[in-house]
Amino acid sequence: MALINFRQQSFRKKLILALFIAALLAFAAASAAFMLFEHLSLESRARQVMEPYAQLVSVGAEAAVAFEDSGRSQEILDTLRANPQILEAQINLRDGRMLARYSIRSNTALPQPLPTANGIYLDRNTAVLVQSMQDNAYLYLAMNLDELNRQTRNTLRVFAIGVVVLLATVALGLLAALQKSIVGPISTLAETVEQVHSHADYSQRVLTSGTDEVARLGQSFNAMMDTIQEHEDDLRRLMLFQRTILDNVAYGIISTAPDGTVTSFNRAAERLLGYTADEVIGKQTPALWHDTEEVAQYALHLSEELGETIAPGFAVFSARPRRNLPEEKEWSFIRKDGARVPVLLSVTALRTESGLITGFVGLTYDLTERKQAEDELRRHKDQLEETVQQRTADLLLARDAAEAANKAKSLFLAHMSHELRTPLNGILGYAQILQRDELVGERKAAALNVIRQSGEYLQALIDDILDLSRIETGKLDFVLSNISLAKFLRGVTDIVGLRARQKGLEFSCEPAPDLPVGIRCDERRLRQVLLNLLTNAVKFTDSGQVVLRVGRVGASRFFFAVEDTGIGIDRNELELIFQPFEQVGDLQRRLGGTGLGLAISRQLVRYLGGDIVVESRAGKGSIFRFEVEAASSSTPVLLNPVQVITGYYGPRRKVLIVDDVASNRAVLIDLLTPLGFDIVEAFNGIEALELAQSTRPDLILMDIVMPKMDGEEATHLLRQLPALAQVPIIALSASALTADETKCLEAGANAFLPKPVDQDELLAQMAALMQLEWITMPRTELTPNQGKLAEMLILPPAAEMQELYRLALTGNMRDILQYAERIAGIDPSYQAFAMHLRQLANGYQSKAILAFAEAHLP
Ligand code: ADP
Repeated sequence: MALINFRQQSFRKKLILALFIAALLAFAAASAAFMLFEHLSLESRARQVMEPYAQLVSVGAEAAVAFEDSGRSQEILDTLRANPQILEAQINLRDGRMLARYSIRSNTALPQPLPTANGIYLDRNTAVLVQSMQDNAYLYLAMNLDELNRQTRNTLRVFAIGVVVLLATVALGLLAALQKSIVGPISTLAETVEQVHSHADYSQRVLTSGTDEVARLGQSFNAMMDTIQEHEDDLRRLMLFQRTILDNVAYGIISTAPDGTVTSFNRAAERLLGYTADEVIGKQTPALWHDTEEVAQYALHLSEELGETIAPGFAVFSARPRRNLPEEKEWSFIRKDGARVPVLLSVTALRTESGLITGFVGLTYDLTERKQAEDELRRHKDQLEETVQQRTADLLLARDAAEAANKAKSLFLAHMSHELRTPLNGILGYAQILQRDELVGERKAAALNVIRQSGEYLQALIDDILDLSRIETGKLDFVLSNISLAKFLRGVTDIVGLRARQKGLEFSCEPAPDLPVGIRCDERRLRQVLLNLLTNAVKFTDSGQVVLRVGRVGASRFFFAVEDTGIGIDRNELELIFQPFEQVGDLQRRLGGTGLGLAISRQLVRYLGGDIVVESRAGKGSIFRFEVEAASSSTPVLLNPVQVITGYYGPRRKVLIVDDVASNRAVLIDLLTPLGFDIVEAFNGIEALELAQSTRPDLILMDIVMPKMDGEEATHLLRQLPALAQVPIIALSASALTADETKCLEAGANAFLPKPVDQDELLAQMAALMQLEWITMPRTELTPNQGKLAEMLILPPAAEMQELYRLALTGNMRDILQYAERIAGIDPSYQAFAMHLRQLANGYQSKAILAFAEAHLP
């Protein structure tokens, strides 16, 4: 008990007590030592007092003893009376008889029997000295020790006081020193620690000086406090951060102990559930806000899922997190006011680093708004679906109407095109046939040329109208074919040259020398663009020239440039002219144009992989240039145009011509009969089937659009007949629908040719399909072999040839024709020369004339 009390005492009191005890012990030790010393020194001090008296008596009584004179001895002994300390003195003789005795008191102080050995014998208050004398006598002296004892006590008292004073001084000094160097700092440290502990004030520090252990203890304390304060600051910041999050987050955050007791409840949770944190902290969840029914159901579900019984309590929320499984579920919470709130609750286990679960955190989110929004959305969606269905129905109706209209338009265009092409087929067909006839007179030949070129121009116009409608509906399609560049350019320049010359303009085509024989491109589109640019150039040029340049810009890229010296275009209007229906310049010239040509052309060129660029200066002229992407091809598909076909080698072949239009049949009959073919005619598909079976033709030319049974169906049925399955069929169609080509080929046709039929192409196809070899003759009037021609001609005199050269340079065909007439009149031998010139002039072959004149200059 005393020990416990002692332990509970302050360090200072302990120190005082320790010092007190130490002083006490020191004092006791000193006193004991002193007493011992006094005790040990008593004998010698008694001896010091008694020995002189004993000496005096022994010397004085020497004779008396010898003579056993007791009187004398008594006298001598009585002298001792001078010292009251001597209590008794006795001299005994050798035989033990007492010789003399002196005593100041009645009772004896001498020990009995008397000792016979020299020495001092100490009693409590007396000391007895035994000293032998001569003749074996003994002197006994007894001395009172009271005086000596009193002296001893006095000395002891003085000593004790001195020791006590000394010890007290030393103890107090020690206490002060210890107080200053140890107790003071330690109790300050202890107070500071208490301060820190009670006020959680980590800013407290202690003053330290020196380098001893206490100072080091203080320094260590300060350093420890620095660290603690840093940690404390960090912790405070973290807690502030955490608090801010917890208070402001939209999620309700509820944390619990492992047994489900609520340990924290943030503001959002308060708002969500209507309880304050104080009301729920320390309580057990889910008792407070969960629907027991719901909890029980989920418990059953979990028990089944996890394969072990989950009690319908807090375990329902912790079962999955305890197994490291996610726990997220929609619940219906019951607020404090009894209202129900749909929430999403996800629960996570809080674990220490070693995996021990220290609690759970539940995150809840109010789903009320989301549910409302979902309902709203669902309603909107339903509404929308309804509207969409309604609109879709409307749109379907509209689409059907539009499709019907579109179909009607396409059908109308196809029909119109067919209607226009059919007569054109007749016109162009006979123009071509008649042109083959060498007996036709030169005037008529020229007229036929004009008919043919105008027909072709008309055909191009029909194509343009169709294209415009296709571009508008986005249904433009392209057909790539191998184009013989020379023939293609001649076709284009023939048409434009005619118009240019009619206006008195010079026209030339300047192909680059490195052009390939053929290119692979959409011939019709390319021609269409070139014709548009060239006719514009002629139209907007009053004097000077129009030049078409063709060249190469890459392995499979070519340029075409149309240059004129016409009225030009104002800088501001350069882009405008490509807009549909835009025409610029004076009104007079706008007549006869629609303002669509350039818009279509640009579109087409873009499809061909390029673009049209224009450079122009008002009053000076314009250059329209474009490039196209086109692979070069070296094999010309078409027949050599300078050769005229007159027949074919081998047995006679039979051709079945199927067409409901008599003129179309007539054109083909007139083309093929002179070449040695037997012809069978059919007016529709049904007839074609019958005739094909009965006559077994070597080839069938099948029109597509026919009454009763069309060409596509007839082709299809013909292919079903084993005997006719292999007969070559060439489909011919005036229809504008390119889909027809695919349909026909699918039905079984071997080739497809559009109407009006290009006769050279038709013959080429026939030769390929029947493996025919043509018998040809050079076209004499157009033979390029100038040397051979010159042999046949008789040339007029040199002066006339100079004149011809001059006229050829001006390029005026009317002048050339007049010149030819004049020369023919000079001499009949010049007839052939004149006829050749007339043919060239009528064909507007200005270059050929110039070349001819140049070659025969003297
Ligand atoms: P149009 O049918 O009127 O010729 P285009 O689209 O072909 O329609 O041309 C549009 C306009 O561009 C023309 O009306 C004319 O004003 C201008 N234009 C076209 N080519 C030339 C040219 N070579 N020189 C001057 N103006 C031209």
